Amino acid sequence: MIDLRSDTVTQPTPEMRQTIAQAPVGDDVLGDDPTVNELEETVAVLLGKEAAVYMPSGTMTNQVALRAHTEPGDEIILESQAHIYFYEAGGPAALSGVMCKLIDGQRGIFTATDLQAALRPWNEHYPRTKLVCLENTHNRGGGSIFPLSEIYAIAQVCQDNDLRLHLDGARFWNACVATGISEAEYAAPFDTVSVCFSKGLGAPVGSALVGSKAFIQRARRFRKMFGGGMRQAGIIAAGALYALRHHRDRLATDHSNAQRLAQGLQAIDGITVNLDHVQTNLVYFDTPNTMPATTLASELAALGVGVLPTAPNTLRAVTNLMVSQADIDTALDKIATTMAKLQSPSMPAKSATAPAVSRY
Ligand SMILES: *Cc1c(COP(=O)(O)O)cnc(C)c1O
Repeated sequence: MIDLRSDTVTQPTPEMRQTIAQAPVGDDVLGDDPTVNELEETVAVLLGKEAAVYMPSGTMTNQVALRAHTEPGDEIILESQAHIYFYEAGGPAALSGVMCKLIDGQRGIFTATDLQAALRPWNEHYPRTKLVCLENTHNRGGGSIFPLSEIYAIAQVCQDNDLRLHLDGARFWNACVATGISEAEYAAPFDTVSVCFSKGLGAPVGSALVGSKAFIQRARRFRKMFGGGMRQAGIIAAGALYALRHHRDRLATDHSNAQRLAQGLQAIDGITVNLDHVQTNLVYFDTPNTMPATTLASELAALGVGVLPTAPNTLRAVTNLMVSQADIDTALDKIATTMAKLQSPSMPAKSATAPAVSRY
């Protein structure tokens, strides 16, 4: 199967499995796991922060960050399509008791002016605004890159108004590789950053939250409270560490494969794709109004090509570690054949059972 549904579908490579098998481990709740400690130190240094803490998922690193930055009744500001707001099961309300104020961005990106307009003056009637969250690259924004200059302008507004700034960096590595901006430089304006090892980097499990020593100490208590304290976690941290060391640079291949895919899709009759919007490894494309995205997805699944319907006439394809340039060409051939078949006059439009919709 050429699986383009997500960059989370990757399998550990043989070399990664070997590293995992040999990893020294200990009880991480007691601070004894050398592999977890090495991963946390490595990621903190890479992002230019004092400390890091390893957790099972990016949802947990984001939600622990929210909890550690706020108190119940506070308000956080984030973009209306943000993963934290859209795909984390109501976590901000359930786990931190915070209110979300939303800014409508352009494909997930908003400006310092937008933020300024969303701020409230002090008044005892109002909730206290505490935190601003950005997402880079932006998932529902189509893998869009948050410009560093705008992040600096937003960070200045935060500083002027005593607000903390958190980054949901599940695909932070893609932003760094695509722009050539170093991890430390891109992380510098943020108080805290969440990064995932299990997306494009291809590790089986885990994310890290990075920030100041005092903040990470506080976050460790909430990780424990949320059930994220793990014992011999070096077994999974070894995969994350391997991915961090060996799979960051190769994200450039995913990006060039995404360009190749997008250009190929644009040439297929009936498919619309905006090439300007393809900035990293995510490719969103549209079918004609008369052809449900689920129909195309299920026809392609039968031919061994996985794509994800995300709206009635929109599909998502994500290039990843398991997909070569030759696979992209094979997938394009199958998409072209299927589109021709579905659009031929003898082919009545039919409804098909959709593959499960997941948007990670
Ligand atoms: C996948 C993702 C997460 C959450 O990661 P999980 O490990 O699946 O919980 C957070 N933010 C963004 C933008 C993501 O794409």
